[in-house]
Amino acid sequence: MTSLKKYKFLFIVGSQDLYGEEVLRTVDEHAKAMVDEWNADANIPCTVVFHPVVRNSEEIYRAMMAANNDEDCAGIITWMHTFSPSKMWIRGFQALQKPLLHVNTQFNRDIPWDSIDMDFMNLNQSAHGDREHGFIIARMRLQQKVISGWWKEEKFRKRVAGWMRAAVGAFESRRLRVLRVSDNMRDVAVTEGDKVEAQIKFGWRVDHYGVEDIIRLVDAVTDREIDAQMEEYKQHYDMATDNIAAVRYQAREEVALKKFMEKEKFGAFHTNFQDLQQLRQLPGLAAQDLMRQGYGFGAEGDWKTAALCRVMKSMTADLDCGTAFMEDYTYNFDPACGMNMGSHMLEVCPSVACDRPKIQVFPLGIGDREDPARLTFKAKAGPAVLATVIDMGDRFRMIVNDVECQKQEHDMPKLPVAAVLWKPLPDLQTSAEAWIYAGGAHHSILSYGLTDEELRDFAEIMDIEYVHIGRDTDIHELRKELTWNDLVWKLKK
Ligand code: MN
Repeated sequence: MTSLKKYKFLFIVGSQDLYGEEVLRTVDEHAKAMVDEWNADANIPCTVVFHPVVRNSEEIYRAMMAANNDEDCAGIITWMHTFSPSKMWIRGFQALQKPLLHVNTQFNRDIPWDSIDMDFMNLNQSAHGDREHGFIIARMRLQQKVISGWWKEEKFRKRVAGWMRAAVGAFESRRLRVLRVSDNMRDVAVTEGDKVEAQIKFGWRVDHYGVEDIIRLVDAVTDREIDAQMEEYKQHYDMATDNIAAVRYQAREEVALKKFMEKEKFGAFHTNFQDLQQLRQLPGLAAQDLMRQGYGFGAEGDWKTAALCRVMKSMTADLDCGTAFMEDYTYNFDPACGMNMGSHMLEVCPSVACDRPKIQVFPLGIGDREDPARLTFKAKAGPAVLATVIDMGDRFRMIVNDVECQKQEHDMPKLPVAAVLWKPLPDLQTSAEAWIYAGGAHHSILSYGLTDEELRDFAEIMDIEYVHIGRDTDIHELRKELTWNDLVWKLKK
C-alpha cells in the first residue's frame, strides 16, 4: 500500500476587500482550521494545502497559476466563506488546468439563534456566495464537482475523499505510459481504439515493442535475479507444484518485464497470446504478481483496459481493497442465484483473493507453448464495481456496473484459474442487456475500493461519456440515455 498524501489539493477561499481586514483575517483562520482538521482525518487520503484568502482578480489568477505550476497539485478546492463577485474569477478560471471541487459548506453548523446579527450573516454567507460562484462555473461551462454539507461531517469528508481519488486517477492517467507487447489479438474489435485520441483525452502514451525485444530481456535475466524473485513469491504465495522450472521461467519473465517498465517508466502493459514467438510461456504468474505491485495489465493487446487498470489501482493505492483485470466468462442462470463468473485464461490479480494464493502449473490449450505457472485462489465477497472503456469512434465511453461479489461455495476442482463470482445490479439479465446495449467490452476492471460516483467524477474530469448500470437501472430508460448521449456527444465535438 502506498499513501496518497503526496497528492496536494489547494484550498482557495474567495472573498473581496469590501469586508475589511478583520473579517478577512477570520476567514483565513477558519480556512486554516479546516485544512488542519481535514489533514488530520484518516478519511481524507490526500494533502489539503491552505492558500490565503483571495480578494480580487489578480490574486485569483495567481492562485490558479500556482496550482497549475505545482507538479504535485492534483486539483483545487474552492469555497466562498463570504461573497466573492464572480467576474473576478473569470480570468483565473480561464487559466485553470487542474480539476475543480467546489465545496458548499459553512464554518459553523447551526444558526446561533440568540446571538445572530448582521455581522454574523456577513461573515457566514456561503449559502449566498457559493451560488454566485456556482453561476460563473456553470456559465463558463467548466467541469466542477459540487459537494454540499457541513465540513466536519464524515459523510461530507468521504465524498471529498472520493472526488480526490478521481482527481488522483486523472493525475496518474495524464502521466501514464503503456507498454504494448505485440499488437491486438487478430480480428478482435473492442480492444482496438484511437491511441492519439486516448493520449489527448486520457494522457496515455501507448507504445509498442516487438515480442523479440522482450525475449532478449527475458534471456538476459540471471539465476540470482530469478532466485530473488522466487523468494518474493514464497512471501506472498504457497508453492503448490513440483514443476519448479515452470515457476522459475515466470520469475524470469517478471524480472525482465519489471526492469524494462521501471527503466522506461511504463505503468501498465499488455501481452498477446497469439504472438509469443520464442517466449516459452504466456506470462501468467508474472502478470499476476506485477498487478499485485500496482502495474496495470490487459490481455490480448488490450491497452485501454491495461491503462484503466493502472488508473484504478492508483486511485486506491492506499487501500487494501482489490482491483483486478477481469473478463466476463460464464453465467449461472439459476433463477435463485443469477451470477456472472469472471476470470481469465491466467491473469487474475491476487489483490482480490480471500485466501493465500497457490502457485500451480497446468496446461494452457491456447497459445501453443509450455504449461504456464499461475496463481489460483478464491475471491473475496463484497460490493464492487466493474468498469470498462470503449472507443465509440467519436468519443470514449466508460461503462460502470455495480456488483456484489459472492462468497465462493464451490471448489471447482477442475478449473485451473482464479475466478470471481458476482451478482450484478439490478439483476443478471438487466445488467447483461444494459452492458451489451452500451457496447461494453468483455474485458473490464473489477474494484472493491471504488464507487460509481468516484468513477463518474473521473470520467467527467477526463471529459468522456459515462454510463452507469446499478440498482435503479431501467433498461428502457438506459436505451433512451444511450440514444440521447449519441446526439449530445456529436454536438459537443
Ligand atoms: Mn481476454
